Amino acid sequence: MGQKQAVALLTRHHKQQVIAPILHTAFGWQVKTTEAFDTDRLGTFSGEVARTKSVLDCALEKAQLACQLTGLRRGLGSEGSFGGGPYGDFLPWHQELVTYVDLDNNWQVSGIAHGPSFHQQQSINSIAQLQAFIADLPHAQALIVYPKSRPAAHLYKGLLGQHAILDAFAACQDCSAEPVIVEYDLRAMHCPQRLKRIAEATDNLVARLRCICPECQHPGFWPDRIVTGLPCESCDMPTQDIAKRIAECVKCHHQQAYPVDKPFADPVHCPNCNP
Ligand SMILES: [Zn+2]
Ligand SMILES: [Zn+2]
Repeated sequence: MGQKQAVALLTRHHKQQVIAPILHTAFGWQVKTTEAFDTDRLGTFSGEVARTKSVLDCALEKAQLACQLTGLRRGLGSEGSFGGGPYGDFLPWHQELVTYVDLDNNWQVSGIAHGPSFHQQQSINSIAQLQAFIADLPHAQALIVYPKSRPAAHLYKGLLGQHAILDAFAACQDCSAEPVIVEYDLRAMHCPQRLKRIAEATDNLVARLRCICPECQHPGFWPDRIVTGLPCESCDMPTQDIAKRIAECVKCHHQQAYPVDKPFADPVHCPNCNP
């Protein structure tokens, strides 16, 4: 394997199992994994360490750290988030980013995948309630169990299987009279639905890397910028519907617009016709 094909990935959560095969098939890259930095120091889903940076900054920082720790000049960072999305509080959202950096040429591109969140959390008071929660678990999804006030000594993570979950629940009930919180462990290796979305983000990264600027051939020419204002079919006023998407090359700044494939917006979306 030449250094040319090697790409560094920093993860302690076994994300290489989905990221590496996709990049190897697409480009012949060899993903070299490092665990030499505890990524939990950048923030955890279970709240012991708060995330202070944006998801993109976290993914980028991990990619740069991967390069530093391995001495490679190309790196990958993966970061997920759970929370607000296009539907706000009505529908919790999950997003995964896989960011690629090329230090020699000083550029980056990120693959993105998102969709409704699958995260579940419940306050549980009885074994019967707990059994019902366990019965609905997706295959291989691990749990976190803790008394409501989250004492550090009784935060049980990575629990798989009825036996381990019931033991942790009993330990929480023994140490406090509070309700016990049971929730999905969102670390990638314990969360098959996250791994699936990380794979989708990696597929999107491949698609973006294959999109080449028509002017300078730089990769990552992707129509991310959205312009709203599609005219209303009935009164021709601009609406909030998407009119076109624009790609801009990060290197030469060449731009290309991609109009949506319908000329008008439904009057239902028009602030004039349907205020
Ligand atoms: Zn260009
Ligand atoms: Zn209208």
